[in-house]
Amino acid sequence: MQSSLSSARPLERTAMSFVFPRPRTVLFPLAVSLPWPAPEDSAEAPCLACGEPLTLHQPDVNAPERLLGTCDDCGAWHLIDTDRAVTVLLPNADGLRDAGDAI
Ligand SMILES: [Zn+2]
Repeated sequence: MQSSLSSARPLERTAMSFVFPRPRTVLFPLAVSLPWPAPEDSAEAPCLACGEPLTLHQPDVNAPERLLGTCDDCGAWHLIDTDRAVTVLLPNADGLRDAGDAI
């Protein structure tokens, strides 16, 4: 008689998979603004959550068109692609926690 373990597929894991969990895809509803910056007020990017001006950060010197916008008023974070004129409001801490709970 064959045991149930012998019919299981061999594990296809590397040592790294035990250290870092495999990424999973989670769907988020995201607020997106097109275009950014608006031609008439290109000096400021507004927070998509509260409308206050964002503080802009350039985390990657090799990708100057990609910015991180943070709101000092409500704490929201945004990804901004200035080449494509797109601003995306990122999930907040509660949204990320909910995503982790859904996995
Ligand atoms: Zn805000």
